[in-house]
Amino acid sequence: MFKTVRGMRDLMPVDAERMRHVEQVSREVSKLYGYEEIITPVLETYELLAAKTSEEIRERMYTFKDLGDRKVAMRPEFTASVARLVASKLKNEPKPMRLFSVGSLYRYDEPQYGRFREFWQSNYELFGSDRPEADAEILMLTNDLLKRLGLKNYRFKIGHTEILKGILDQEGMDEDKQNSVRQLLDKKSWEEALAIARDADVSQKCLSALERLFGTRGEDAFKVLETVKETVQGYDTTIAAVDNLWEILELVKDSGVKLEVMVEAGFARGLEYYTGMIFESYVPRIDVALGGGGRYDKLIQLFGGEPIPAVGVAQGIDRIVLALKKQKVSPETGKEKSVVVISVKEESMGKALELSDVLRKSGLSVEVAVMGRSVSRALADANRRGVAYAVIVGPKELKEKKVALKDMNKGEQTTVPISNLAEAILSGLK
Ligand code: AMP
Repeated sequence: MFKTVRGMRDLMPVDAERMRHVEQVSREVSKLYGYEEIITPVLETYELLAAKTSEEIRERMYTFKDLGDRKVAMRPEFTASVARLVASKLKNEPKPMRLFSVGSLYRYDEPQYGRFREFWQSNYELFGSDRPEADAEILMLTNDLLKRLGLKNYRFKIGHTEILKGILDQEGMDEDKQNSVRQLLDKKSWEEALAIARDADVSQKCLSALERLFGTRGEDAFKVLETVKETVQGYDTTIAAVDNLWEILELVKDSGVKLEVMVEAGFARGLEYYTGMIFESYVPRIDVALGGGGRYDKLIQLFGGEPIPAVGVAQGIDRIVLALKKQKVSPETGKEKSVVVISVKEESMGKALELSDVLRKSGLSVEVAVMGRSVSRALADANRRGVAYAVIVGPKELKEKKVALKDMNKGEQTTVPISNLAEAILSGLK
């Protein structure tokens, strides 16, 4: 017997439906906010995907040579593909430009709860604005998506890359070491991060600022930011970063949208390209992020384009589904609108198919009994699968241009004129 490759999953109907539902709501939200959908390939050149992702993701890419001897990889994220487009085909488009993408991504991660080797994201990116209202929009959009999906008690962990970078740049720490610090902070290994700073001969002032910053977090955003500001006196870029985050959160507050936030001064995300606000969304009892994003003003330049500021978010569809399940939120299944059409005799099968077509045109979900079973066995099967109505097409009723209609929930059967069939079912479903 064949099996799936380790880390790859088959999604059975119930899970597939949940995934598609999150995808669908993500798409609706993209329309509500004016993000236009683009579809980019799963396979890209290795060079593109490796160019500016984190070391951790780079090492875990599915990479191989195609038959034309090209080194290719399966995308581990959308941002590189979108950046490629924005630096090339879309480079002359008027700004702002809002883009949406959804699809599967591949990382050779160790399979565990919420971590798969093939997973799905919906991705929103806003190009052309370096202003705080653009960051605020991305936060509000993410909040809106999670709310529309019916999630409760979700909250945002928020930070700013320049809080740390401002200090380390001023101390003259090189990019590679800073990246190592970031990766360690992403894993909450504060002590090891401090050790790197110590080895890099940063000042005592810097060490004590870092020590205090790593512990500075809280739900009262503005209070946390005030504390950070006091801690980082003398590091001007860091102070500007705090002011920027302040403005963003103030705009969200002024909009009337209430976000549950946890501001963390030492928050870092693994990806290397962020240059401003960064955030992740969480729900209680799931300790992996449902989604994450931030500002990346230099990325397009790195892919050979003009400098274009950008801010975006990647929503992890698989993890949102896990969260919805944990909170027992179910999408409508559509079963309550379903009908089975059963032909009593072979001669009436053509009529049964015709009726199925008519009913579908009224928006009903219709199955035709295709197993050649007796009416009673076909009804038992329909009952097992939770079908709402059965239409039984028999020769006697057909002569009078009628069919039998059985309400599967109540078990009641009536005879209905064909001309009135769709209406009878639809009014019964109300
Ligand atoms: P990232 O692209 O690493 O910033 O991740 C953004 C979101 O994608 C995360 O918050 C997760 O929801 C989701 N994600 C990332 N890696 C995986 C994975 N291996 N399996 C499932 N979801 C993932």
